Amino acid sequence: MTEARLKHFGWGREGEGLTDAEEAAALDRYRRLFRVDRFDEVAPPALSDIRLRPPRILPPADLAHYCSTEAYDRIAHTYGKSFSDYARGLAGRYDAAPDVVAYPKSEADIAAVIDWAGGAQAALIPFGAGSSVVGGVEARIEGSGCKAAVSLDLRHLDRVLEVDRSSRAARIQAGVFGPALEAQLKPHGLTMRHFPQSFEYSTLGGWIATRSGGHFASLYTHIDDLVESLRMVTPKGPIETRRLPGSGAGPSPDRLLIGSEGIFGVITEAWMRLQDRPRFRAGGAVSFADFFAAAGAVKAIAQAGLYPANCRILDPQEAHNTGAGDGSAAIMVLAFESGDHPLDAWIARALECCADHGGTLERPGEADAHREGAAEAWRNAFIRMPFARERMVRRGIIADTFETAITWERFEEFHDKVKDATETAIRQATDRAGQVTCRFTHVYPDGPAPYFSFHALGRHGDLDEQWRAIKTAAGDALIEAGGTITHHHAVGRDHRPWYDRQRPDLFAAALRATKHALDPQGLLNPGVLIDP
Ligand SMILES: Cc1cc2nc3c(=O)[nH]c(=O)nc-3n(C[C@H](O)[C@H](O)[C@H](O)COP(=O)(O)OP(=O)(O)OC[C@H]3O[C@@H](n4cnc5c(N)ncnc54)[C@H](O)[C@@H]3O)c2cc1C
Repeated sequence: MTEARLKHFGWGREGEGLTDAEEAAALDRYRRLFRVDRFDEVAPPALSDIRLRPPRILPPADLAHYCSTEAYDRIAHTYGKSFSDYARGLAGRYDAAPDVVAYPKSEADIAAVIDWAGGAQAALIPFGAGSSVVGGVEARIEGSGCKAAVSLDLRHLDRVLEVDRSSRAARIQAGVFGPALEAQLKPHGLTMRHFPQSFEYSTLGGWIATRSGGHFASLYTHIDDLVESLRMVTPKGPIETRRLPGSGAGPSPDRLLIGSEGIFGVITEAWMRLQDRPRFRAGGAVSFADFFAAAGAVKAIAQAGLYPANCRILDPQEAHNTGAGDGSAAIMVLAFESGDHPLDAWIARALECCADHGGTLERPGEADAHREGAAEAWRNAFIRMPFARERMVRRGIIADTFETAITWERFEEFHDKVKDATETAIRQATDRAGQVTCRFTHVYPDGPAPYFSFHALGRHGDLDEQWRAIKTAAGDALIEAGGTITHHHAVGRDHRPWYDRQRPDLFAAALRATKHALDPQGLLNPGVLIDP
């Protein structure tokens, strides 16, 4: 059976989405939040109604068999999945559509596209699954010197090529989607266990290029730590790093290329560190009087060196919105897992840390309830959340998230400043109150990674501008209060104003020099991370 194609507007494949009951529940919650009876609804334009500029270049005959200028391909590669992408898609704005979409099947195909793009002075935008929420795959080429844009979709590089059972590593092609990667490792009894929320519709190459964060709250959660070596094709030729468990030989070439967001070259494959499949699990939901008490418990657990697989805390509103709580308490979703040993000692000590901060286990005496009650409600909401945006934006509902990290000693003040600034911006941009909630996605001994969600009722026709005003206020507050503009969503084009303030200028000069050495014509992903 052939799979349905990916939606040109929305998350996942055609035919997938929220059920009517899920949509009704979300709308009901928003009606109560915004105190309205109904929402104005606007449908996104049909594919056949979207107007595109004719392609500015056409692929040469020898590349034509893996390139497309069809409307569906160009439209489905115009945007990522940010709120702004949906708002502009809803308004039928596709002026940044790439001229050509290439679907290479090999490194030789990629090298041929790079050569052609160099001759045509066309921008090249590496494209994994397009789940970027920071404008990472959008061909905004004005001012770059490029005359056209080619989206380079890696979906056909989708195989696990080699498995080294002894070292527990595998050589994997960059265009593989999350589920296909895990399905190919399963017969070997191995797993990468890197589960970003976008797992189903994002790729290994995209994860490496953006330094993604997985579902683990601590330890092996950053893709950075899972990469043993990688291979990249650049306009100056291929780079392949050496497979090593560790190395002290100067600055790490892997670390330079990981997180390069497609500006140096195209990641084609990587040796990835794997794990045994988990056999032991322990966990449950713990409730706290307030968010800062829960944060105190998280800090104690992180500093005790317990390294939980999950240690998310949800503030009372976030717990309510996801069905994990009734809005009166903060909830911690706590879990440990291991492929090797029982976890009784770990969960017992973590629950002691919780009790020290007033936390009570939702089901006393059941420290293996990680798939029940609030923990399960949270998990289900987390998995279904990505499908909500395309339905809510039709009703003018601006629902978005932003994530950051901050050291513990500044956390409480930081949280309050960022939340206040975002709430104020919502009131100013939309003339009514909205909601800002917070959870932790990842935790470290020296600080948490807070993840904020905001909800506002916008006006059709102004949605992108209203969102931008709120996003700008939030970004300013994050940087001014000492945080990072992103913990795991990457920089892309949309986070540039704050990234430029955050990174040292001499470091930018070093990045620019590297870019010049690898991509002297400035073809790859113009506007991302640095300007030439
Ligand atoms: C609903 C939702 C949930 C998300 N949850 C998470 C999460 O939990 N954790 C997280 O870290 N992120 C998350 N993200 C963000 C996004 O999924 C990640 O940034 C992801 O790593 C992007 O992968 P992708 O394959 O879709 O890459 P794309 O979106 O296609 O590309 C992302 C960037 O990487 C570049 N790129 C892609 N492939 C390559 C390659 N092979 N070589 C060189 N450059 C390349 C692109 O040019 C672009 O700049 C989420 C996004 C959404 C929409």
